[in-house]
Amino acid sequence: MNPGRIGIIGGGYAGLTAAYELQKQGHDVTVLEKYGQWGGQAATLPLMGTRIEYFYHHLFGSDTHILGLMDELGIGDQLRWIESKVGFYYDGQVYDFVTPFDLLRFRPLNLFNRVKLGMMYLYLQQVDDWQRLEQISARDWILRYMGRQIYEKVWGPLLRGKFGDLADQVSMTWLWGKIKVRGSSRQGATATEKLAYPLGSFEIITRALIERLEAGGADLRTNHEVIELVTDPLDPCRVTGVVTKKETIPFDVVIATVPAYNLLEIAPPSLDEGYAELLRAVPYQAAVVLLLVSKKSLSRIYWMNIADRTMPYVGVIEHTNYVPPSEYQGRHVIYISNYLERDDPRYQMRANELFELYAPHLKRINPSFDSDWIEKKIVFHAEAGQPVITCNYSQRIPEHRTPLQGLYLANTLQIYPEDRGTNYSVRLGRNIARMVGEDLGNGGPYAPRLA
Ligand SMILES: Cc1cc2nc3c(=O)[nH]c(=O)nc-3n(C[C@H](O)[C@H](O)[C@H](O)COP(=O)(O)OP(=O)(O)OC[C@H]3O[C@@H](n4cnc5c(N)ncnc54)[C@H](O)[C@@H]3O)c2cc1C
Repeated sequence: MNPGRIGIIGGGYAGLTAAYELQKQGHDVTVLEKYGQWGGQAATLPLMGTRIEYFYHHLFGSDTHILGLMDELGIGDQLRWIESKVGFYYDGQVYDFVTPFDLLRFRPLNLFNRVKLGMMYLYLQQVDDWQRLEQISARDWILRYMGRQIYEKVWGPLLRGKFGDLADQVSMTWLWGKIKVRGSSRQGATATEKLAYPLGSFEIITRALIERLEAGGADLRTNHEVIELVTDPLDPCRVTGVVTKKETIPFDVVIATVPAYNLLEIAPPSLDEGYAELLRAVPYQAAVVLLLVSKKSLSRIYWMNIADRTMPYVGVIEHTNYVPPSEYQGRHVIYISNYLERDDPRYQMRANELFELYAPHLKRINPSFDSDWIEKKIVFHAEAGQPVITCNYSQRIPEHRTPLQGLYLANTLQIYPEDRGTNYSVRLGRNIARMVGEDLGNGGPYAPRLA
């Protein structure tokens, strides 16, 4: 087999995994990342003597692809399974929300609906045939089978918090994916939940991948934004390389792992309009996360869903109610999470402005909260935080093999029926590497021509 020269755009988990797999197949890989560090949405920053994700991260029991990758990279034992404390803020009260007993104590619902909500979790965790659920929106399914009280007090505010004006269109398959995955991390008669966190943050996974790639001779370039795809002058539907701000690099195959709108920005005009339309059709919600380093703990909950749309955020994730504060020099690390459209004023706010907006509402969670507790405030933005998956999405997923010969796409729009996550980006990276390897090897109809 002739080794192919493969250019991968994007150094997140999809791009790095694809590079690693293609290198194992014997190809020459180059990874081009726009920013100054690896890891994409799972990248980390130094904080309190260690590292932590810009955006709160953990793994579930069903995340077999990334867990398998960690084993293969020799870091499978550097993972801790920690009991998580999930809570639900409603009408001035924080409720535990993990076990069936917690649900039975959830006073905002009448007793009948508490049992019904528990049955909803149990039922959806058993369902494998998600195709039945994709024709109906989450809102309509809940209203039809669970009733108005469960919709208005539990799911409605959460869906609106995450998807804003698009909430009513979100498919039931998306919600099924969320509930199914959580079931995989529950154990024992009390159904407590254990989630995994790498010792030393997700950085250890990113580093292990980078070290393997470096050892295999991969060409790894950060601060290399791809601004254009190059096509063959004689065949505008064949991609032959990329242009970065620094140079033009020829490739036999280009794999884009970037959000759909980024691909549209760099794609040549010869990209088929039908394919471009699929890329344009799925909106993304941006994530805006305010990280606080605090002298004191805000609550006893790790993951608090905020089901109150008078609060200006959707989640409070107190990381140090999961990984102990002793690992952060005794400080408490709290993420205040929001999913927004990019034209929302909160998307433009600086950390201090967001904090001013949020602080009175943190007092609603803990009346003794005081701004003096906060030693550091940093805000992070993920522009493509969450694709909005609507009904019958299985019929509109863009193909990995794009209509441009030699160009492949592997991004979060192609994760379905599950919700996006590092585990599925690892799966994407593996799948795309297998596909590219086969196409390069078998000279099939889509085989990119080697230069
Ligand atoms: C708030 C939040 C919380 C999350 N929590 C979890 C969690 O708990 N567990 C979990 O598993 N997952 C979580 N995720 C999701 C997970 O981080 C992502 O799904 C995953 O990291 C996506 O990887 P990716 O490689 O597909 O894409 P990305 O990580 O987005 O990688 C794409 C890369 O392409 C680069 N790029 C873009 N344009 C260009 C260009 N023109 N040229 C070169 N490079 C370019 C980007 O800079 C980026 O590094 C969370 C995400 C968010 C936003």
